[in-house]
Amino acid sequence: MTGNSARKGKPRVGEPKSSAAGLPGITHAMRYALGEMGARRSIQTLSAMNQIHGFDCPSCAWPDPDAEHRHQAEFCENGAKAVAWEATRKQVGAAFFATHSIAELRAQSDHWLEHNGRLTEPMHLAAGATHYTPISWDGALSLVADRLRALPDPDRAVFYTSGRASNEAAFVYQLLARRLGTNNLPDCSNMCHESSGAALSQTIGIGKGTVTLDDIANHAELVVVVGQNPGTNHPRMLTALEHAKRRGARIVSINPMAEAGLARFKNPQTVRGLAGRGTQLADRHLPVRVNGDLALFAAVNKALLARDDAEPGAILDHRFIARHCDGFEAAADAWRALDWRRLESMSGLDRSDIEEFTTDVVAADSVVVCWAMGLTQHRNAVATIREIVNFLLLRGNIGRAGAAPIRGHSNVQGDRTMGIWEQMPDTFLDAVRDEFGFDPPRRHGLDTVESIRAIRDGRVDVFFALGGNFVAATPDSELTSAVMANCALTVHVATKLNRSHLHHGREALVLPCLGRTERDVRSAGEQVVTVEDSMGMVHGSRGIPAPASPDLRSEVSIVTELGRRLFGDDIGWGAMGEDYTLIRRHIEHVVPGFQGFESRIAEPGGFALPNGPRDSRAFATPSGKARFTVNPPDAVQVPDGHLLLQTVRSHDQFNTTIYGLDDRYRGVRGGRRVVFVCTDDLRDRGLRDGDVVDLVSVWTDGERRASGFRVVDYPTPRGCATAYFPEANVLVPLDSTADVSNTPTSKSIVIRIEPTT
Ligand code: SF4
Repeated sequence: MTGNSARKGKPRVGEPKSSAAGLPGITHAMRYALGEMGARRSIQTLSAMNQIHGFDCPSCAWPDPDAEHRHQAEFCENGAKAVAWEATRKQVGAAFFATHSIAELRAQSDHWLEHNGRLTEPMHLAAGATHYTPISWDGALSLVADRLRALPDPDRAVFYTSGRASNEAAFVYQLLARRLGTNNLPDCSNMCHESSGAALSQTIGIGKGTVTLDDIANHAELVVVVGQNPGTNHPRMLTALEHAKRRGARIVSINPMAEAGLARFKNPQTVRGLAGRGTQLADRHLPVRVNGDLALFAAVNKALLARDDAEPGAILDHRFIARHCDGFEAAADAWRALDWRRLESMSGLDRSDIEEFTTDVVAADSVVVCWAMGLTQHRNAVATIREIVNFLLLRGNIGRAGAAPIRGHSNVQGDRTMGIWEQMPDTFLDAVRDEFGFDPPRRHGLDTVESIRAIRDGRVDVFFALGGNFVAATPDSELTSAVMANCALTVHVATKLNRSHLHHGREALVLPCLGRTERDVRSAGEQVVTVEDSMGMVHGSRGIPAPASPDLRSEVSIVTELGRRLFGDDIGWGAMGEDYTLIRRHIEHVVPGFQGFESRIAEPGGFALPNGPRDSRAFATPSGKARFTVNPPDAVQVPDGHLLLQTVRSHDQFNTTIYGLDDRYRGVRGGRRVVFVCTDDLRDRGLRDGDVVDLVSVWTDGERRASGFRVVDYPTPRGCATAYFPEANVLVPLDSTADVSNTPTSKSIVIRIEPTT
């Protein structure tokens, strides 16, 4: 699937870069923006992006500076690409679909599919048909309503959400699913920060971070960036890190590969960044082995404890521990019993490196730990993040700085706040009942992996996706694409054609929606939506240019109109679809922290949601205290001759969206089928840079193969390998998931490498 046409791009490989952004960042952003949008539209959109009265960047969830510190160009290269991708002038309409059959489209790359432009009208694929054909909105929504109404059991429907959906769209969407009678609400969070939510809820009583942008930029004395590549995935974070660095904070990067963005940042907003050498960011880089983070943080905690044992009270914050925490003694006993040699071997780091990092920690009165998918997509991800919470608790850093899970998609955190979760607690469901007068189902629904299993096993008739590219984003992609045919109907609300529209049910619909950048006018006037960033700030987003086609509808209006057709106007579906302030009034009643919602989004920059650990060191755990936990270090055992593969994004990529075929920071151009392996591991296998190999993953149910990858000799720890997703998703077994969170283990796949024959 995704790989076929990607093989057409033959990668050229040069030296990795030692700095990020700068003039090349501006050049690449503007070239892409002008190519997709032209000069007028580029100015119109980019000048409104991340501005107080503009729209929120549809790419990552990095927070915006407060109103008085915003630049006129408050976006990064990848944010500009995301906007250009959405606000492109190119379009695909009925003529395109009449020309290209599904079979032809499947043979194209993801890059090609999306670069044909915006969808302009609803399209229908009849059972047995070879081409999508136009359908009216009335026909499309009636069809979906009829199929949902006819289900023998509401749990035979699945409602998937991507992290782009606004708070308003997410709220009415979860309402629709629950009004129908199901909690089958899988989302992209199941595949990314589910492990963070699980670990943080267990230990500090809230499934979100405890840090603000101000903490990172202006207060923290040490910022630890682990399992995260902000230069590509959250580029404006580099500005905050630069700010921190220039006021004297230390930065430690922990990642198998040293990434350009954390080495040196050339801030394009400064003369120093444009004409000078920029700012060195990381003071220390620890090249941890893939899946070695749990062992590393256990080792640091052991070292901190040993120093405190040697000099009682000098290292740990015993006052904080006694007053705010449970479980310290058990955790301390476990750390004392750990064996240094095992910790070194599992982490891939020497004790001396770990002790030096511990010295950085001891020297800092406030520490922030930022992380992303490099931590969350391992089998032991929840244990790893719990161990990071232990690390933060030991020196009382929660409530002074603390935990910063950095979300990858613009409103993925907000969607969860709005109830997009297959296991929302009874308090939320009770509030929905009290507000709307129907009792939502209480049994837990299906998450993403469970949904794929249910589809595979013929237990799902209707698959509805609010955005996203389900088959490309999910693990075991060949299996996932194949089993979608088991659904009677697949429905995708989308801005652009993607692979998921081509691996469809027996009947399929593609419903074109407004993008975040576009003006949304309903009968009640121009509408604003809201989003929540990675740090719990909620603010408004108002699209500026006219929609790409008059036939587009907003996600809110599609969902509410479907609700009206299914349930009549029992809870005011029609009115909510015309006036989003009514939705916000309901949110205010149902979701804690949204009192005065409408007036607070009028404040420049929006408002912060309450956060007990951060605001007042209040922990909503059963004991009311933060919990130390015991997390026995382990690491994936890799058989002789095998490697542990992690999947990553290239720089020309946002999730499954491929903007281009380059990854210039890592020195790769013109292709994506590459695998990064160190010199020693290549030599052991008789391989060299430039060889072409197959990657074969090994799992209990057999082997999976991805063919034709160009080997790149690259500095990375021994025993590790790296390739891009979605190309390598085919190697991730559906049943290889993280403990507790059930997140696919896309960052630790046992593979062997074989020369392509
Ligand atoms: S850092 Fe993230 S939110 Fe900000 S402009 Fe870049 S991609 Fe968009």
